[in-house]
Amino acid sequence: MNGARTKRDESPFLEGEGDGDRCVTVYLVGAGPGDPELITVAGLAALRRADVVVYDRLAAPALLREARPDALLIDAGKAPGAHRLAQDNINALLAEHALAGRTVVRLKGGDPFVFGRGGEEGIYLRERGVPFRVVPGVTSAIAAAECAGIPVTHRGIAGSVLIATGHEAAEGPGASLNWQALAGAADTLVFLMGVERLGAITEQLVAAGRPAEQPAALVRWGSTTEQQVLAATLGTIAQRARAAGLQPPATLIVGEVVRLREKLAWLESSPLFGARVLVTRTREQASGMVARLRELGAVPLEFPAIACSPVEDTSALDAALRALAEQDWIVFTSANGVTAAFERLDALGLDARAFGRARVCAIGPATAGALAERGIRADLVPPRYTTADVLGALTGSPEGVRDRRVLLLRADIAPPELGEGLAAAGARVASVTAYRTTAAGGRRAELEQLIAGGLDAVTFTASSTVTHLLEVLGGDTTPLQGALVASIGPSTSATARKAGLVVDIEAEEHTIEGLVQALAAAWAARRRAAEDVR
Ligand code: SAH
Repeated sequence: MNGARTKRDESPFLEGEGDGDRCVTVYLVGAGPGDPELITVAGLAALRRADVVVYDRLAAPALLREARPDALLIDAGKAPGAHRLAQDNINALLAEHALAGRTVVRLKGGDPFVFGRGGEEGIYLRERGVPFRVVPGVTSAIAAAECAGIPVTHRGIAGSVLIATGHEAAEGPGASLNWQALAGAADTLVFLMGVERLGAITEQLVAAGRPAEQPAALVRWGSTTEQQVLAATLGTIAQRARAAGLQPPATLIVGEVVRLREKLAWLESSPLFGARVLVTRTREQASGMVARLRELGAVPLEFPAIACSPVEDTSALDAALRALAEQDWIVFTSANGVTAAFERLDALGLDARAFGRARVCAIGPATAGALAERGIRADLVPPRYTTADVLGALTGSPEGVRDRRVLLLRADIAPPELGEGLAAAGARVASVTAYRTTAAGGRRAELEQLIAGGLDAVTFTASSTVTHLLEVLGGDTTPLQGALVASIGPSTSATARKAGLVVDIEAEEHTIEGLVQALAAAWAARRRAAEDVR
């Protein structure tokens, strides 16, 4: 392979892994405009090998998880006393760690050399003989507009673009920005750091001859699922932004290209775009749901209301597991139950053969999947995943349940209806606790902090998630007010109603995907209603 490498294959941004005495010690890395996936391949590689990462506010927090677990992470936005680290201190910090032989990544939002002070850091390092490399990033000056459906240039509309700072407007006319020249210098004007001085910027542009009716847009947190776009005109945008309480970071785009947004807006059309959704499943189970929500444009807020733990006294479970083969039916009502049963079987030195000829029922596809992973093919998966459906499917099966031995392996807090229904149908039912559910260290303050930025929907994937979330809230549902309550199925809904919640959404198909789809439909309806009001 190596022999076939051409000059063009060799990256000037990163040194190879096997370079022996590495001499480059500081990488000035552009993190991209906000979405963590918009860092470059070279930037990510540098981040993954860094001993020290010095990051600022605009670099996506998710990127920090890419650093080595033992890497030293330094927030350059905050000094120990909560003041911002001054640029001199940051420069000194980079040099100090590098001179101590550490690989340092200076992670900056967007591109390091576009209003990123990366140039100053480079000069400082060069003066001290500290080698550095620069890994360019996707700048928000272009990407924020782009993610709002605004191309900064467009054939026939804009043949030039100018990127300026909105910060220096603070110094008024005659400061380093030449407004007269700037206003007419390009078809599209892009201002970074302009939110606080919006009034002054737009007034100067109009005074310098830029038409007040020209379209203008502000894009806040562009490229992320929190992206907000405000489109108006040069004459009205400052007032509109003030009225909307729009906060930094946002980019101002002025020019005819802003109109193209009507045809090109794309990010906001994701089905769950911008919806802040509370996910209450256990940490282990949440990842699939979180990924799916994110894919659809939502902002998942993870608050595992429950954790599963093994039963303390295993004697009943062990006895049931040793006698599995004597059962006619073994019923699992969650993937957690499957995991717990197999962990215990393993501890007993047993495996899937312990099931013998017993028939196995799984409440839904996720549970059936957990069984399949362990070599057991479920004999019965009811078409719908409610207690009534499971009951119907079991009693209606060719074997029936009359005089049959049925073992339920479930959570400690599983509701009694299934067992009662089976007993009423003549089954000899044994219900054994396979795992315990506990409120997962959820403190109210933590939850409130998580939803401080707004909460659009709460999802409940089991009765236990309702019970434990309300336990965390001390039975008080006010923090959830205004949020859509979405439940996976009738029994979860019933628990939610009992707890005093109004259930807005109940999944037709009682799966995570069914829940997410039902939520997306409700969210679309809510957005349409909001647009009608406007
Ligand atoms: N080096 C960065 C810019 C740093 S200056 C880059 O190349 O993108 C900081 C300014 O960038 C903010 O005040 C804001 O105007 C803009 N900005 C950064 N991230 C942004 C985002 N996700 N959406 C909109 N504007 C952003």
